[in-house]
Amino acid sequence: MVHCSPITVSSKKCYPWVQLAGHAGSFQAGDCGKLLKKYCECEQQCLLKLMGDSLRPFVPGYYGVVQQGEQEFNLMDDLLADFQSPSIMDCKMGSRTYLEDELVKARERPRLRRDMYEKMVAVDPGAPSPEERAQQAVLKPRYMQWRETLSSTATLGFRIEGIKKADGTCNTNFKKTKHREQVKQALEDFVQGRIKVLRSYLERLKELRGILEKSEFFRTHEVVGSSLLFVHDKTERAQVWMIDFGKTVPLPPPLTLDHRTPWLEGNHEDGYLWGLDNLVEILSSMLPD
Ligand code: ATP
Ligand code: MG
Ligand code: MG
Repeated sequence: MVHCSPITVSSKKCYPWVQLAGHAGSFQAGDCGKLLKKYCECEQQCLLKLMGDSLRPFVPGYYGVVQQGEQEFNLMDDLLADFQSPSIMDCKMGSRTYLEDELVKARERPRLRRDMYEKMVAVDPGAPSPEERAQQAVLKPRYMQWRETLSSTATLGFRIEGIKKADGTCNTNFKKTKHREQVKQALEDFVQGRIKVLRSYLERLKELRGILEKSEFFRTHEVVGSSLLFVHDKTERAQVWMIDFGKTVPLPPPLTLDHRTPWLEGNHEDGYLWGLDNLVEILSSMLPD
């Protein structure tokens, strides 16, 4: 059931919860089994539509907006609730992580950004052009496009954002995990040779792919910055869900996407299914012969 008017929940946590990505402070524990994420209208609209789409079994259940003090939250299922000391992985899907609109806006008022230049140099001192070096600054669109080439986003259509294993170790340092073999190694470390877990993930991803190919929601939205959340535990139960719809926007009608065609500015393609194809292929290659 979806409540659209604010309802209150107590902030009672009955098991440890883990956040792998995003801003600290964006989440709060709801009642057992539920989670509060800082309100974002775009995400709310998506979750509402997804509750009536064939993708519903692949997204957290959504229960409307909750007010706590000054802050509003979207109330959703905590996908970790049924697991014991779960291993978790967040894979950000798609061949770019900014919306076409963000690129357009970044170009409207071109401003030289010193902060972005500094971030760039910190990662790769050789990245700035001679001109950028002279200015000690870069333009935002340039920075946005450069950033995607660091990880596997541009080359594989997905990137690992973070992995937390059952033993408590956590790695969110995948910004430069780019090549297929590096990604495969990280996935192997996550699955730890558990063939049953690997098979369950693959089965679920293939099922998701079949549903995505037919989903009305998916055809009519540019899906950017959304992740697949992988969760398994020592019982070897393994599940995958789609999360994070803060940058998933409806397309201008009658435009639809196949999510596999390469992106050319203006076509809105996001490479989501291309990335999922690659992810499935890499995970399949980890199965024993
Ligand atoms: P960003 O846009 O930077 O990726 P965000 O603030 O939009 O971050 P999310 O990506 O939605 O936040 O979530 C961040 C992390 O919180 C996820 O990687 C995951 O570990 C956890 N998380 C999010 N939603 C859920 C959920 N429904 N159940 C369990 N864990 C979740
Ligand atoms: Mg996210
Ligand atoms: Mg987000």
